[in-house]
Amino acid sequence: MRAVVTGGAGFVGSHLCERLVTLGHDVVCVDNFATGRRENVARLLRGPRFHLIEQDVSEALEVDGEIDALFHLASPASPADYLRLPVETLKVGSLGTLNALELARAKGARFLISSTSEVYGDPEVHPQPEGYWGNVNPIGPRSVYDEAKRFGEAATMAYRRTYGVATTIVRIFNTYGPRMRRDDGRAVPAFITQALAGDPMTVTGDGGQTRSLCYVDDLVEGLVTALEQSHPGPVNLGNPHEVSMRRLALVVKEICESTSPLSFVPRPEDDPQVRRPDIARATAELGWSPRTELAEGLRRTVAWFRLTDPVPPAARLS
Ligand code: NAD
Repeated sequence: MRAVVTGGAGFVGSHLCERLVTLGHDVVCVDNFATGRRENVARLLRGPRFHLIEQDVSEALEVDGEIDALFHLASPASPADYLRLPVETLKVGSLGTLNALELARAKGARFLISSTSEVYGDPEVHPQPEGYWGNVNPIGPRSVYDEAKRFGEAATMAYRRTYGVATTIVRIFNTYGPRMRRDDGRAVPAFITQALAGDPMTVTGDGGQTRSLCYVDDLVEGLVTALEQSHPGPVNLGNPHEVSMRRLALVVKEICESTSPLSFVPRPEDDPQVRRPDIARATAELGWSPRTELAEGLRRTVAWFRLTDPVPPAARLS
């Protein structure tokens, strides 16, 4: 199979590219490094099965040769990134998705879009099944991401209905693992970075708000399975094990053997109170469920952060 991965130099995308190459596929990664990094794919670039095109998919998306599958992941994903890049986020979710769909249509390729649990907004139904239409504030600061993804889903369904493109919509819930940027604002890299440096671990609100965290390897398996099975979706991919932010901070602190105190800071606007996927559909129809326990996934992630730790051990101890 020859697969295109937009956003392939990002956190999830680089793990997906790696998995596809390991499975014996040829991979073309299209990325403009808005939030991704060349070093995420540096090892892949040394092999013969991986090619990188540096391009903004909101502007144009041209790839020579046959394509069997297109995974459309390009989009800023962390709140810090999409609040910093609001117009770019709207463009990549709309124009970028239309460009990716056009390419899939022209090449007769299967198409997967990485949508998000954020389409459920601040949910009034808990946990969230795919049939729930969501509670999104269309004009709040986070709407640039939430509404762009909702548009992306609508565009995907329009191409499916109008042109018969074999599309898959997956709604990804919070995912963590190696290669997250320590400054991307998400809780896991923030807590690990602070714990390793001995700095106060900043928990927003009272830390009672919950998230359900999926280890990246499990998610990537779900993405590949969903596309292989040509499941139309939408299908939730995430780990239903729900954890409060306060508890998460304490687990990270323990794994890092840190003495950092917890420091409570105000919560951002429209921050959802609870978030847990209902994965009954993924389990029943894809035969997929996450396998990595939170503590195990966090241990692997902390090990990676230690390897790439910018803080010298001596400074950490002081
Ligand atoms: P990321 O920011 O690490 O990766 C996104 C990649 O897309 C980056 O490499 C970035 O440079 C690239 N990109 C952004 N705009 C682009 C453009 N206009 N043209 C070309 N490339 C562009 O984020 P991630 O966590 O890896 O997320 C990947 C996808 O999964 C996103 O679509 C995101 O919405 C979705 N998702 C992720 C999570 C999560 O917890 N990580 C949760 C829900 C959904």
